[in-house]
Amino acid sequence: MSLTANWSYPTAVRFGAGRISEIADACAAAGISKPLLITDRGLADMDITTRTLDFLEAAGLGRAIFADVDPNPNEKNAEAGVKAFNDGGHDGVVAFGGGSGLDLGKLVAFLAGQTRPLWDFEDIGDWWTRADSDAIAPIVAVPTTAGTGSEVGRASVITNSETEEKKIIFHPKFLPSVVICDPELTVGMPKFITAGTGLDAFAHCVEAFCSPHYHPMSQGMALEGMRLVKEYLPRAYADGTDIEARAHMMSAAAMGATAFQKGLGAIHALSHPIGAIYHTHHGTTNAVCMPAVLQFNKPAAEGVLTQAANYLGIEGGFDGFCAYVDALNDSMGIPKTLKGLGIENPDIDRIVQGALKDPSTGGNPVEMTQDNTRELLLKIV
Ligand SMILES: [Zn+2]
Repeated sequence: MSLTANWSYPTAVRFGAGRISEIADACAAAGISKPLLITDRGLADMDITTRTLDFLEAAGLGRAIFADVDPNPNEKNAEAGVKAFNDGGHDGVVAFGGGSGLDLGKLVAFLAGQTRPLWDFEDIGDWWTRADSDAIAPIVAVPTTAGTGSEVGRASVITNSETEEKKIIFHPKFLPSVVICDPELTVGMPKFITAGTGLDAFAHCVEAFCSPHYHPMSQGMALEGMRLVKEYLPRAYADGTDIEARAHMMSAAAMGATAFQKGLGAIHALSHPIGAIYHTHHGTTNAVCMPAVLQFNKPAAEGVLTQAANYLGIEGGFDGFCAYVDALNDSMGIPKTLKGLGIENPDIDRIVQGALKDPSTGGNPVEMTQDNTRELLLKIV
C-alpha cells in the first residue's frame, strides 16, 4: 500500500515521504507569495529547516525565518513574531515544527492584522467573533513531530508568562489552508520526543473517545488513531528511520487532533497548568497523568474503554486497557510521578485551580471537583 495521498479532510493535506519539496507549490495554493517561516529555536539551524528554506528561495519566495519561540510559547514570542511578520511585509506563514512552532506560527498569522490585544481572543464563548476574519493571513503548516496534530487544529495554545497559565486562542481560520505531512521530517526526533509526542497523540485519541459528547465521526477516528499508535509507536521508538511507522504516527497525530473536537479531559486539564508552571514537555506530562486519570474515570468510562480494548486486541477489558497503558509507558521510560519529571513539591492548590479552569475539564466523563481533582493529582505526585 502506498503511503502517499492527497486529502481534503479536515483541510488540504499533502501526505507522503519527500513531499516537503512541494512547499513552494503549497504556498502558491494558499495564496502566499512572501512567506515567513516560523519555528522554534531548536529547529532553526537543523537540516530539515535549511532544506525547506532552500526550496522556498529556489522558487523565488525568499528565505525569511522567525525562530524566537520558546518550548511553551508565550505572548512575548507572539508579539516579536507579529513584528517580524509586519516589518518584513509578509503575506502568509509557514508554521513549521512541533506544537510550539505550529501554534506560534498560526497565532502570528491570526494576530498580525488584528487591532485588539491577544487575550481578547481567548477561547471563551463567542470571543473569536471579535476578530477581523478578513485580516487573518493564510497558513501552510508543516509538522516535524507526530503528536500535537496542531497542523489540522483550529486553535493555538499559548502561555501567559505573567500568570503562568496556558490559554487557548480559537478561530476557525486557524485551520491551515494547506498541510504538508512528510514523515521524513520526523526521523531525526530523539527517542524521548518520539515517545512524548506519540503519547500526546494517544492521549488526544483516548480523551476524545471517553468524552461524553455526541460526535460519532470523532469516535471512529479516535479509535483507529489508538490502533495506529499501538501498532506503530513502538516501532518508531525502536527505529527512528522506520518510515512506515513514522508515516502512520503522523496520521495518528492528525486524527487525534481532529477527534478532540469531541472533547479532551482530565489528562489535558492537569497537564496544561503543570506545563505552564514547570515547563515540562506536554506529551510526556500527559503520559505521566494518564494511568491515574483512567482509574479516576472508571465509573463512567469502563464501558467505552472495554470497547477500545476489544478493538485493539487487548484482553481483559478495562483493566487490560490500563495494564497496556502502564506497559507502553514503561517501555518508553515514562516516569510514574511528577517527581520523576523533575518537579519537587508541586503547588497542589495552584495546579488544581488551573485544572478546574481549563477548557479540557468540560470533556471529562467524570465531573471534576476541587476534592476529587486534588485526590487525583496527589496520586501522581
Ligand atoms: Zn495534547
